[in-house]
Amino acid sequence: MLASSGYVSRVAADLCVGCGICADSCQFGALSVSDGLVAVDTTACMGCSVCVSKCPEGALSLVRDPAKSEPLEIRALIARAGSAARD
Ligand code: SF4
Ligand code: SF4
Repeated sequence: MLASSGYVSRVAADLCVGCGICADSCQFGALSVSDGLVAVDTTACMGCSVCVSKCPEGALSLVRDPAKSEPLEIRALIARAGSAARD
């Protein structure tokens, strides 16, 4: 089962050189290159950040998408679980 992180990938058009490395790394088919620039299909993007780590130009970043689910506050959930276990 998969769930969105609540974020989507965003391209800085002035940094992208259209190499396609990010599109090859996206397991969700959310990226495509056209006319030397990558485009993000935000409905397909899960916000996993793999493409961000692969871009050699630093042209990708994750931004919050209100249309997606709320991000999980992992540290708060762990702290709450630890507190409940001690009670
Ligand atoms: S890897 Fe970076 S530079 Fe290459 S197409 Fe993707 S966003 Fe553009
Ligand atoms: S964040 Fe993940 S799902 Fe979204 S475009 Fe990048 S690799 Fe694909």
